[in-house]
Amino acid sequence: MLTGSGVALVTLVALEPVMALVHRFVFNGPLWCWHESHHEHPTARRIVRNDLLWLWPLLGSAALISLGGPGLAGIGVGIVGYVAAYILAHDGVAHGRFWVPMFVRRMSGFRLLAQTHHLHHRGGRHGGAPPFAVYAAPVEHTWHVSKNFVPATKPCPPGRVRVAG
Ligand SMILES: [Zn+2]
Ligand SMILES: [Zn+2]
Repeated sequence: MLTGSGVALVTLVALEPVMALVHRFVFNGPLWCWHESHHEHPTARRIVRNDLLWLWPLLGSAALISLGGPGLAGIGVGIVGYVAAYILAHDGVAHGRFWVPMFVRRMSGFRLLAQTHHLHHRGGRHGGAPPFAVYAAPVEHTWHVSKNFVPATKPCPPGRVRVAG
């Protein structure tokens, strides 16, 4: 029987492949006109429309933590931990959207994550390219896991690409 912290740890790890699939098939799919704000302004130091998508998992985890027993609360804590880890590696280290201590940015693991994430941005604001994971991006890239899942370029209708703030 897993304890609450064990459930949180399993959730944290399991969310990386889940998030890679969501990033490919939802963000670079039906929600592209929300996600495009990140591809258009990857280093923005203000909130862009794409950032607001984090509200969904955070609202879900707040509900799990406040209403659930130890197991569900563990899932909620795992979600919060994953969102924080993602924002650190992706927005902080890879894109420099906020200050991250130099010793963290210089860690070879984080440098590799940043380099492989930049491959996702090579299409500019016209669409994301493989890899779609962040922490698993080096594995995804090296093993060509997603090379056959390149999203189609989809222009957003005028007025829907505006960034918030
Ligand atoms: Zn990015
Ligand atoms: Zn993307």
